[in-house]
Amino acid sequence: MSTKKDRTRQGKKMGKGSRRCIRCGTHQAIIRSYNLYMCRRCFRETAVKLGFRKYQ
Ligand SMILES: [Zn+2]
Repeated sequence: MSTKKDRTRQGKKMGKGSRRCIRCGTHQAIIRSYNLYMCRRCFRETAVKLGFRKYQ
C-alpha cells in the first residue's frame, strides 16, 4: 500500500543543471571563472579570441 513513487518525481530539477553554456546551451563542464559561463568547448574557442593563451 505504500506509494513512494511520488518522491521520484523530483528528478526534473538538478543542481548541476542550474547553469548552462551561454553559447551552445550544454550543462556539461561549465566554467564560471572570469564571468564566462561557458562550457569547456566554447571556452577554448572563445578564449583565443578574448586573448587567453592555450594551456599546454
Ligand atoms: Zn558551450
